[in-house]
Formats: sequence, structure tokens, C-alpha cells
Amino acid sequence: MAKRDKIKAILAKEETNYSTTVMGWVRTFRSNRFISLNDGSTINNLQLVIDYENMDEALLKRVNTGAAIKAEGEIIESQGKGQSVEMVVKTLTVLGDADPEKYPLQPKKHSLEFLRENAHLRFRTNTFSAIFRIRHQIAFAIHQFFHDRGFVYVHTPIITGSDAEGAGEMFQVTAMPMDNLPKTEDGNINYKEDFFGKATNLTVSGQLEAELGALALSEVYTFGPTFRAENSNTSRHLAEFWMIEPEVAFNDLHDNMDLAEDMLKYVIKHCTEHCGDDLAFLEQRLINEEKSKPQNERSPMALLEKLNFCIENDFERVSYTDAINILRNSKPNKKKKFQFLIEDWGADLQSEHERYLVEKHFKKPVILFDYPKDIKSFYMRLNDDEKTVGAMDVLFPGIGEIIGGSQREERLDVLEKRMEDMDIPKEEMDWFLDTRRFGTCPHSGYGLGFERLVLFITGMSNIRDVIPFPRYPGSAEF
Ligand code: ATP
Ligand code: MN
Repeated sequence: MAKRDKIKAILAKEETNYSTTVMGWVRTFRSNRFISLNDGSTINNLQLVIDYENMDEALLKRVNTGAAIKAEGEIIESQGKGQSVEMVVKTLTVLGDADPEKYPLQPKKHSLEFLRENAHLRFRTNTFSAIFRIRHQIAFAIHQFFHDRGFVYVHTPIITGSDAEGAGEMFQVTAMPMDNLPKTEDGNINYKEDFFGKATNLTVSGQLEAELGALALSEVYTFGPTFRAENSNTSRHLAEFWMIEPEVAFNDLHDNMDLAEDMLKYVIKHCTEHCGDDLAFLEQRLINEEKSKPQNERSPMALLEKLNFCIENDFERVSYTDAINILRNSKPNKKKKFQFLIEDWGADLQSEHERYLVEKHFKKPVILFDYPKDIKSFYMRLNDDEKTVGAMDVLFPGIGEIIGGSQREERLDVLEKRMEDMDIPKEEMDWFLDTRRFGTCPHSGYGLGFERLVLFITGMSNIRDVIPFPRYPGSAEF
């Protein structure tokens, strides 16, 4: 294909009086004269000016919304308002037609639900192209953050032979024929005949393997897909989502909190510096969307203000015990407005409690730490009080939990005792326990739900709108 200039570059350099070629998709074509062309490099369109009297009429009839075209011409200073430069077209080629009778994305407002059903085409809308450019920038910034600090990116397995990760319900992986499963003598499924000679699942977390890496490479992180067969039909859960899991040798819980806070601020700042046009568009989208909501349900801050607020303010660090006291004495608890009332120490916090702390009480991101051991995982480090573990959750406005992490239990005897108490099969976890047998050391890590961070930064409200092809109960389209 002939060389082309990207629209982003043409608009950025603001030079005029040169010839070039552009390729992209028609957004609109009005008055038989002005084509708005988008090539995905930026949310902004390039205006193409057509001298329709000297163009083939049949060709112009094919310039419909959604069609792919190539245009060669001269970039000049724009005669109209709204853009600084435009292209006077010399030759125009239609690369791919889009029949206006059939193309679903005609230029009008489409609901997010409609676009979700047409997820194969929604990349072509302003909203979704902005979201997915930002999603890319967030991923890139995460790698940059860890790379700059000397972390090693470790690829942990997607098919796992361990079912003790304990983070959620798992999807089974098998190559056995479903309609004719091999059985053992006592009638159970004979996994010895399966592909791996044992039962396997899709991973729910790469943490345990990341720990193995950290205890040699000292600072590692994973960034990969994770799968949970939990039937939670919420706007914050997916069955397939991406998780970032740093794991650091010699870090205690407070170092872990510092790392999480620094990382989130770094990534958000990167986006405010590199995604200005897209964020400005999404900010306006949110304002328009919220116009139909009652005042008290609207976001207290506009999108960019909220992001800057996060970058500029320290996150509030609060122990679970202090948080329970705040919640117990809170208005919604006393007036029985919470669905789950907080009575005793030890209660698990629901999303409504997390959001109360963040959005109503502290009005900023919050890191809760030192949770009761009974509501947390076996690998979290037991505190000296023997009632709590060194766990931490980072809670964000509008989202709730965005990160869950902990200092890990590095003491073999304490870990084994916890595994026994919680019925975790020690025999299957021998490889994991080896790290505690040989050269164990204090270490910490956390899991960041990638899509929850994308939700926060884009100001979208449904997690199904920030991953290209969402998987959730009852839906695995495309
Ligand atoms: P939640 O209580 O919100 O279900 P969790 O306690 O199950 O979260 P962890 O097991 O600690 O979460 O996973 C680490 C991070 O992964 C969470 O903080 C969250 O950001 C993200 N996460 C967890 N489950 C999902 C999911 N089903 N879809 C998208 N992100 C998720
Ligand atoms: Mn969960």
C-alpha cells in the first residue's frame, strides 16, 4: 500500500501547503463536499474537501458513513471553523464500501447497550476508540513503571494444575470427550486419562508463581489474563479480566502500600499527559450522561479534576479496625440504610461499605489494612495480635476495590498451621512451600484489576465497556 500520513500527525504539526495521502473511515459526508475522516490515530477527524463538480458522481455515492477510503491531496489552512488544517482532495479511492441500508453505526447517538451487542463494530465510535486508546496507554504505562524500577516481567501459566489459588471459582480445562468421560473403577472421572494426566483449570491469579520469581529475581510482576467462573453479574466483574501482580522480596506491608500508590499515581499521570483529547471527550460524555441523573447521583468532580485529585493527594491509610468503627457509627448504618449492617468486628466489608468510606467519609482513595485473618487468604502474614493479617485493599471512588494485596507469610511453621486450619491441601502445594524451606524472606505483593483501573480513568460505569470483548455469565460473543 502507498505510504500515508496519520491524521494525528497531520493535525499536530499544523503545517500547510504540502501533498500527502490519508486513509481511514468516513464518519460523515455532508453537502456533497465535506468528508470527516477518522483513521483511529486520534479522536479528531480530518476534514476532506471535495470538488464535487469535477468528481465522478458514482464514486461520491459510495462515500458513506463507515466506508474505508484513500484520499490524496493538498493540506491547506482550513477555511472553516473547528479545525486548523484540511485537505483539498485530488484523487479519491473507495477501498471498502459500507452499505448505508445495512451498516449499523449510522451517525446518530447509540446507547452503550446497543454498542455492546455490536462490539465487533464499536471500535469505530468516538467513545470506544477513545477508551481503547486509553486502555493501551494504561498498559504501556504499567510496563514502563515497573521496567524503570528494575522489575522483571514474569509470564505465569494460564492453565494451572493447582486449585489452591483460592481467589475464586475456576473454569475447568479438559481435552476429554464430554459425552464419553473416562471413569475410574469406582465411577469417578479419571483425570489420569486427560491431556495433562490430572485435572486442570484456567488461572484465577498468578500470585503463587510470581512469589517463586520474586524469591530469586527480587522484583517481578505479572500482567496477564485471569478467569473467574463466579456468577457475579455486576458492573465491576468479568469472567475474563487482566490482572497486574507485582511481587517484591524484602518489602513489608507499608512498602507494598507505597508501591501501589506510586504505581496508580504514575499511570493516571501518564494518561493525563498522553490522552488529553480522549479524556476531554470522555469527560464531556460523562457530563452529558449524568444530566439525566438526580444531582446527588452525579460525580462530585469532572473526570480530569478527579484524576488530578488522585495524583495530588495522599491516599488515606486506615486499619480495618478503625474502618469498622467509622462504619458502625455511620449514618447509613444507624438508619439501617446499608443492605449489610455492620455490627461486630470481623464482618467482611461489602462494596456499599467500601464506597461509603471512599466517597462519603474520606472523599479520597483509601487503603484499608490489617484485616481479620478469617476473611482473608491463607498466604497472608499473621500479625502479632494473631487476629489480623497484613492484608491491604486499595479502594477507589466509584469503583470500590481496585487492588487487593498483602505481606505474605514467610514463616514455614505459621504458614503450614494456617493451611491446616483452612483445609488447604499441603501435599499439592509442596513447590510453594519450598520457597519457605529454602531462603525464605519477608515479601509482599498485590493484584491490580486492570479493567477496574481503565473504568476509573475513562469514567465509564460498566466494566463490560472497557474490554473489547467482555466475557460474563451467559455471554461469550465474538
Ligand atoms: P471483589 O471483592 O471485588 O470481587 P476480590 O477480592 O475477589 O474482588 P482479588 O481476588 O483480590 O479480588 O483480585 C485482585 C483484583 O482483581 C481486585 O482488587 C479487582 O481489582 C480485580 N478483580 C477481582 N475479581 C474481578 C472480576 N471478576 N472482574 C474484574 N476484576 C476483578
Ligand atoms: Mn471477587
